[in-house]
Amino acid sequence: MHEHFFTLAAGIAKHATCGRDLCGAVIVKNGDVIGEGWNSPPGNSEDQRMCAVEEYDWLKKKKSDKTCCMHAEWRAIIDALRRHPDEILGSTLYLTRINTEGSILKSGEPYCTVCSRLALDVGIAHFALWQESGIRVYRTDEYNQSSYAFHKE
Ligand SMILES: [Zn+2]
Ligand SMILES: [Zn+2]
Repeated sequence: MHEHFFTLAAGIAKHATCGRDLCGAVIVKNGDVIGEGWNSPPGNSEDQRMCAVEEYDWLKKKKSDKTCCMHAEWRAIIDALRRHPDEILGSTLYLTRINTEGSILKSGEPYCTVCSRLALDVGIAHFALWQESGIRVYRTDEYNQSSYAFHKE
């Protein structure tokens, strides 16, 4: 069941146009996908297909809200709020990155505090990552705490 939704998220990630990572997210409630998103510049217009990550060296350093694109999770949350605003409470968000062949790349520990805050604030109950050790479904408050605790030099 979880694997199925990660496969869907990987398919969504093929829309991503970010120059750094290709990410996809789906939000699921009672077995139904209620929102989906991928990372790319805001607006995602056809004439602006590349993000700014190659333009500024400092953008390559992941630093809170100074990441380059709209995150897949934000898009999925906005999508769910537009299409199924009364279903988002208690839902589960599945996030994955893919390589250029479209295969799932295993996730590390949670680190994005912008996404963790947003997910917690809109009432998403669980946040799922497929890590090296297997699929892990975090409670969103736990995901948020882990994201803040993450530190890498
Ligand atoms: Zn980008
Ligand atoms: Zn994020």
